[in-house]
Amino acid sequence: MCSVGGPFGDEEIVWPKNYRCSACGKKFKAVGEDPACPACQSSDLEELPDD
Ligand SMILES: [Zn+2]
Repeated sequence: MCSVGGPFGDEEIVWPKNYRCSACGKKFKAVGEDPACPACQSSDLEELPDD
């Protein structure tokens, strides 16, 4: 995890992570611990680095 300093104080901000669906290949951003592909609802996801 990378920590980002910013003007947000210690407010908890959840940034979306990039994922790619292993089932259909769709790339998307999601938050939460158990995201699912918006296209096919698969939870077989690969987490991608931010770009
Ligand atoms: Zn999918």
